[in-house]
Amino acid sequence: MRLLLVAGACLAVLMGCSTTAPDAPQAVASPTLPAVETPSTFTQAEHARVLAARNFADTLDFDFADRGFVATRSNPLITNAAGQPVWNLEAFDFLKQTSSDTVNPSLWRQGQLMSKHGLYKVSENIWQVRGFDLANITFVKGATGWIVIDTLGSNETALAALDLVTAQLGARPIVAVIYTHSHTDHFAGTAGIVKLEDVRAGKVAVIAPKGFLEAAVGENVIAGPAMQRRAMYQFGVALPKGEDGLVNAGIGPGLSTGTTSLIPPTKEIGETGETMTIDGVKMVFQFTPGTEAPAEMNVWFPDWKIVDMAENANATQHNILTPRGAVVRDAKVWAEGLTESLRLFGDADVLIASHGWPRFGNDEIREYLGKHRDAYAYLHDQTVRLMNKGLNGDEIAAQLQLPAELENEWYDRPYYGSLSFNSRAVYQFYMGWYDANPVNLAPMPPVETGKRYVAAMGGAGAVKRQAREAYDAGDYAWAAELLNHVVMANGDAEAKDLLARSYDQLGWQAEPSTWRNIYLTGAKELREGVGAPRANPASQMAQLANLPLGSLIDLLAVRLDPAKSAGQSVKLAFVLTDSNEQTYITIANGVLVHEEIAPTGAVDAKLTLTRADFLGGIFGGQPMPAKIQSGAVKLEGNPQALLKLAQWMDPPNPVFPIVTR
Ligand SMILES: [Zn+2]
Repeated sequence: MRLLLVAGACLAVLMGCSTTAPDAPQAVASPTLPAVETPSTFTQAEHARVLAARNFADTLDFDFADRGFVATRSNPLITNAAGQPVWNLEAFDFLKQTSSDTVNPSLWRQGQLMSKHGLYKVSENIWQVRGFDLANITFVKGATGWIVIDTLGSNETALAALDLVTAQLGARPIVAVIYTHSHTDHFAGTAGIVKLEDVRAGKVAVIAPKGFLEAAVGENVIAGPAMQRRAMYQFGVALPKGEDGLVNAGIGPGLSTGTTSLIPPTKEIGETGETMTIDGVKMVFQFTPGTEAPAEMNVWFPDWKIVDMAENANATQHNILTPRGAVVRDAKVWAEGLTESLRLFGDADVLIASHGWPRFGNDEIREYLGKHRDAYAYLHDQTVRLMNKGLNGDEIAAQLQLPAELENEWYDRPYYGSLSFNSRAVYQFYMGWYDANPVNLAPMPPVETGKRYVAAMGGAGAVKRQAREAYDAGDYAWAAELLNHVVMANGDAEAKDLLARSYDQLGWQAEPSTWRNIYLTGAKELREGVGAPRANPASQMAQLANLPLGSLIDLLAVRLDPAKSAGQSVKLAFVLTDSNEQTYITIANGVLVHEEIAPTGAVDAKLTLTRADFLGGIFGGQPMPAKIQSGAVKLEGNPQALLKLAQWMDPPNPVFPIVTR
């Protein structure tokens, strides 16, 4: 029997197969792992490779990032009304040391640049507060007041930025707010610095690209719970800030955790070349929908030769598809937009952006815009070339590399988006997730796949042994692939531990901040489980408060549990007295349909109420019956109809598992 096995093993060698029989004891046992994972020799070697490959002697970015520094806030903590910190300017001070063996040196450099904070004078008329949030807030000096471009991600951080500006430059009213695009880190701080009634009274103009509100709602609200959960991974929200955790978020230091707001625009820009003069400041807009955001625009100050490139050209390769999830972007349209930017703003002497530091000098700016464009054009064209030769997304991602002229530019490095992720995104944009191989027509869910692979490979013990071999050889990605099947199959504690260690090493090696944060968050959750929800209900309600009624009902439609409403139907009408909105809701066949005009047939119940009572009752957990009894809410028809609506809703899970099941 023994001889037969040996003969079989020899045959396997000749045939190029694995020589390890399933569940066979290993000749040499791997040493016991230390209690705490430390950077391996493989991780150290990867860092050494990066140090040798990149031009760390080039300090132009540091010169640009420091230029025009005026002052920063004396109190490093920015707090909310309850006194809880929502941002700490000192949190990234650890980046003042030269390096860390748990951080890719290139990412460390990006973290150093992004963690600078304070008020910076960009030109005679333009200042920026940077490092107070994920994004920048820009103050443009008009004849009488400030035009604010982008308002950060929290009311509190926006107010702290304005306070710093006021302390250093004197008090001036805000006469206009410009949202460059529809992502929350650029609009959610508005209510911190502008009163909604002033906007409604026409005292403050709010200017945004056409389609802003729909995009903000669609991108951040309907898929919000899933996206927020995934964003926790991408931005490392649960990681401690430090060399073992969050170092940088690629486009900024990290996410603030304050109160968010959404004040809708009063004026939309829908065409390139549209010109506007506000408070004596002339601005020309480049409308760039479908680039970095569904609704986005760049702003040109022709009198000063300064361009604000929004998020279309920041100091990193950006995402064609964000790991947090969003509709895939069009790399071709993005590149074409930058070609147009070069034509429109080719005279620029100063370039600012929604994230990162400015660039100065016309030659520098032309090269910067050109090589940003070329990176996206190359990504698009070469992915499609290989796609048309029959390679699938994984195969393209494994071989695509930027040409040296682009790869060597720091601003084309993958701190936020990576070529690997982005080439898959281009593939997805044209072809979807399916790669045409029939085996992939209907892939099994991860638990089922895990169970079957583990069984096919000879059981969990055999898979873990092979994973340990891969781990010991520094092949962490393969170790993770194997261990993920074991964890999904049976939640094995030993497999979880080794998987977490593999993710540690992968995270410490990663150049993209997004990948580092994702790996390290995965490791943390494998060790500690999923934490408590972090969402701030007050912030969520503030976000909902300004949404049109139809968008609010859309949220109910995607919460309907068809099992609970099976075989039943209901018709409801809501009439909001103060906002002059009404909606007719029909639930039947497991679907919630709503329209503003009454459909045929009688409704089961009609509710007449204020917008605040509607929001509180439907989304805020305030009991509606008490308000009906008090007369604040008028109910006509069958009260059971309203009860059904409530009972059939299935709330989202803000802390769903990702690395386990
Ligand atoms: Zn942004």
